[in-house]
Amino acid sequence: MLPYVGRFAPSPSGPLHFGSLVCALVSFLHARQANGQWLLRIEDVDTTRVKADADQIILSQLISHGMHWDGDVIYQTNRQNEYQKTVDRLHKQQLIYACSCTRQAVKSKGKYYTGTCRDLHLPFKDNALRLINTSDDYGFHDLHLGDVFVEPLFCSEDLSIQRKDGLFAYNLAVVVDDIEQQVSHVVRGADLIDTTLQQQHIYRLLYEKPPRYFHLPVVCLESGKKLSKQNHAIAIENRRAVKNLIDAFAVIGLSNHSLSEKMTVEDLINWALKRWSPNLLAKRREILLLDINTV
Ligand code: GLU
Repeated sequence: MLPYVGRFAPSPSGPLHFGSLVCALVSFLHARQANGQWLLRIEDVDTTRVKADADQIILSQLISHGMHWDGDVIYQTNRQNEYQKTVDRLHKQQLIYACSCTRQAVKSKGKYYTGTCRDLHLPFKDNALRLINTSDDYGFHDLHLGDVFVEPLFCSEDLSIQRKDGLFAYNLAVVVDDIEQQVSHVVRGADLIDTTLQQQHIYRLLYEKPPRYFHLPVVCLESGKKLSKQNHAIAIENRRAVKNLIDAFAVIGLSNHSLSEKMTVEDLINWALKRWSPNLLAKRREILLLDINTV
């Protein structure tokens, strides 16, 4: 068996909110219970969405909530050469082509990209780059949710791997980083299920074995509306770390009635490490905040 290497990979588009705290917590508990490593990667590949200091705030939020990572924090902005090398390699394999379609142009033709530019041999300069997708996989086995299926048309889209402005795409960066960091388990929100198929496709083209995936339910305000930076979910406050953890425990299925706000963060984390199990977590893609019995 390979050693367990897990990771938490927040995008620094804002501080952690309650939903991302729950995600960090499950990924942390899952790794530590397996005596695994828990790495931290700041996913700042899309520099246009980065908020100043958000990375430092995230680091302090994790520490204040008792989640200490292993090794150095990796920043995607320091890994541009690695992404470029992978693009070059895929290009040599003749798997990449240039695409001039704007998002709007794609939308106007339907929901999914259908390979409009695949045979046009457009110049790479000033165009986005896409990866030819020959995969006919549209499902995978999730460690938590079991067999999961994704819209086949979405799974067979030629993936954008570099934007016209030169920024590397999230899917490419995540795969390159997870390979390099030898991540064995990806524990993340169920809102990323669809991207899993796309990422697995990149693994295949790079002749690498994908990690195991565990998707946890996303904390939502109402069905389909996840707590997110986009809908201005409030940042968790470090001075309320004990209360935040007790509330997060309720979300992940740990009964929190015996807990008191007089406990320390370390006590709470140790308590959870002894008791939590993935079986306690709802096997759903969403958990509504309203349904949670927080104290
Ligand atoms: N950076 C992504 C996010 O904050 C998570 C990516 C991942 O866990 O694979 O939503």
